[in-house]
Amino acid sequence: MQTAEEQLIGPLLLARGTIDRSSALRADERWLERAWSDPSARVLVIDDGHTLVRRSGDEVHAVLFAPADAPQGERYLLGVEDGTAYFAVAAPLPGIAKSEVNGRVTIPMSLRDTPEGQPVAAGLRQVGGLLGDRDAGLLVHAVALEAWHATHEFCPRCGTRTVVQAGGHVRVCPHDSSQHFPRVDPAVIMLVRDEADRCLLARGPQWPQGRLSILAGFVEPGESLEAAVVREVAEEVGIVVTNPRYLGSQPWPFPRSLMLGFFADATTTTLTPDADEIAEAHWYSREEMARALESGELRLPPPVSIARRLIETWYGGELIGDW
Ligand SMILES: [Zn+2]
Repeated sequence: MQTAEEQLIGPLLLARGTIDRSSALRADERWLERAWSDPSARVLVIDDGHTLVRRSGDEVHAVLFAPADAPQGERYLLGVEDGTAYFAVAAPLPGIAKSEVNGRVTIPMSLRDTPEGQPVAAGLRQVGGLLGDRDAGLLVHAVALEAWHATHEFCPRCGTRTVVQAGGHVRVCPHDSSQHFPRVDPAVIMLVRDEADRCLLARGPQWPQGRLSILAGFVEPGESLEAAVVREVAEEVGIVVTNPRYLGSQPWPFPRSLMLGFFADATTTTLTPDADEIAEAHWYSREEMARALESGELRLPPPVSIARRLIETWYGGELIGDW
C-alpha cells in the first residue's frame, strides 16, 4: 500500500524543463524560418551528446548562440519561452577539438572543476545537475533528438533516406510518405524492500567493486510497467515482489530511455543473482547503508539519476558520495 512517506524526495534533475515545447508550431515551416531569422532566437549546439557550458560565479549555463553565429547543421526546434525561440543545431562545438568531445570522461563535473568564464564541452551526465532548469531541459531534449536522428536516417519500411521535418521531431520517407517519430524506450527502475524494510542493491558485471544500485530493466512489448517490475526482479535476483508503486519518471537519453521509478515489496529474501546480469546483490538496512557509504565500501549512483532519488526516498534523506 502506498504510504505518505512514499513521495519522491529531491528533484529529478533531468525532468526540470520549463520551456513550452510549442509542438503546434513545428509543422509551420514559415514560422520556423521566421523564428530562425530573428536574432533574439537562441541556439544550443549539440555534438555527440555534448554542448558548451560556461561557469559564471556559482552558476553554470549552457552557451547559447544567435542563429547567425551558430554553426551549420541539422536544426531542431526545442520550444519557445517569453517570445524567444530555442533551437538546437547538431554540429561540431565551436572552438572545441572533436577529440576533446569523444575522449571525455563522463564523471559528473563540480562547480570547482568548471573553469570560470571559459566555454567547455560537457555532457548531460556531467552537468545535468549543475545547469539551471531551463538549460537542463534544453540539453535533455537536444541530446535525445540528436541521438535519435543519428541512428534513424533510413525508412524502416523501404530503406530510403528519410527527410527531417517538424522542427526535427519527425522524419518522413520521400518514397512511401511514412512518418517516423522519435523513439523513447520505457525502462522500469525499482527499489525493492523486504519485510524488515531493507533495500536491495546490486552490482552489474561491468561495474567496479563497491558501485551498486537498484534493479532496472526494459519494458517488453505487450507488457505493463507493473508486470515488468515483477519480471525483472525475478529474473535478476530470484526475488518475488508484489505491489509495485509508481513514484516518478525522468528521461535518460543514453540513448533513448525513459526511467519509470517504482517501489516494490519483496515476499522472499533469498537472493539468487543471474550471473549474466548481476555480479552481486545484498540487502541493506538504513544503518548498514550509512556505514558502508561512510567506510567507502559502497558507492551509490549520482544525484542526476532517478536511482539516487529512489534510494534517498527510502532512506529518508540525503546520502553521501557517488560514482
Ligand atoms: Zn519508405
